[in-house]
Amino acid sequence: MKKYDYLIVGAGLYGAVFAHEMNKKGYKCLVIEKRNHIGGNIYTEVVHDIHVHKYGAHIFHTSDEAIWTYINQFGSFNHFINSPLANYKGELYNLPFNMNTFYQIWGESDPNKVKVIIEKQRSEIKGEPKNLEEQAISLVGRDVYEKLIKGYTEKQWGRKCTELPAFIIKRLPVRFTFDNNYFSDRYQGIPEEGYTAIIDKMLENIPVQLDTDYLSRKDYFDSLANQVVYTGSIDAYFDYVHGPLEYRSVRFETEVLECDNYQGNAVVNYTDKTTPYTRIIEHKHFNFGTQKKTVISREYSEEWTTKKEPYYPINNDKNNQVYKRYLDKANELEHAIFAGRLGDYKYYNMDQIISLALQKVIELTE
Ligand code: UDP
Repeated sequence: MKKYDYLIVGAGLYGAVFAHEMNKKGYKCLVIEKRNHIGGNIYTEVVHDIHVHKYGAHIFHTSDEAIWTYINQFGSFNHFINSPLANYKGELYNLPFNMNTFYQIWGESDPNKVKVIIEKQRSEIKGEPKNLEEQAISLVGRDVYEKLIKGYTEKQWGRKCTELPAFIIKRLPVRFTFDNNYFSDRYQGIPEEGYTAIIDKMLENIPVQLDTDYLSRKDYFDSLANQVVYTGSIDAYFDYVHGPLEYRSVRFETEVLECDNYQGNAVVNYTDKTTPYTRIIEHKHFNFGTQKKTVISREYSEEWTTKKEPYYPINNDKNNQVYKRYLDKANELEHAIFAGRLGDYKYYNMDQIISLALQKVIELTE
């Protein structure tokens, strides 16, 4: 008899939901985490009474009522609606692409006339869009693409828009109404007490070992539990035998400022090519903060190397083929389950992660 039913590698959102649900069903779980804190990349820490999103902005949004009810058990969410601004060479535009943006670009306030402009511009794309550039032009036309998409995307991904998959830009809504809500989901908000408090509550009564690197003592940890749920990078698990998968990493330059309001909005994207960072986050605005000081983070996108944290899988054809080879190996292992953004090598949102963890628990227990 092994000591635990499940060893969960990674105390991020997937690991925490999985452990919580299994623990509730009476299964013995141990969570191990290589960082010195829980929460993975949704971790928030308090700085001058402000919840700082240490690994980048996380805005919870979902259209699934069950997921919204689920997450609200662990903490209350405020009514924050994400409405980022784009700064292109000092000019401000609203995002996502909507009538405010189109008015700012073309001075046209009639949705039907805007549609005619876009229709004309998109006619340069023949057939199905083959990459992000074609997809973007076919959604909003070349003018919007050049000012608000090209520079930002090439900085964020470190690749030409013609070399990136089209699906990335389909994450953003395009609207012919004056509506700056970045998401079209029914439910949206930020936890009042921060994401760390949510994860902490999920992991209540479950043993968690921080500063613990699974891969360096895999055999030992495997001997502790009947099954392993691994939420780290799949290529690292197999010691990169098929070569490393590519990821984008992010570096934050965080500053405390002696003013109460730096940019008047939680998120401002810098969409030109020359500004070295992709966006500036002013954390207090996620919680409508009224503190005397403010904390801002400039976000720099970087290519991942083994010494950095992987954030975004780069799901182009080349990487997806390499991933497939790792997946075949993963499927051969009976004792291990691969999950989460890194385990599945997929650009998941938080609500998808919760849904996948809940489904997996059902699959394993019913
Ligand atoms: N994007 C853009 N301009 C912007 C914001 C986003 O071109 O001002 C594109 C870019 O390609 C980005 C994608 O839309 O990778 C998805 O953006 P999202 O905000 O969903 O990215 P995340 O918040 O996950 O970094």
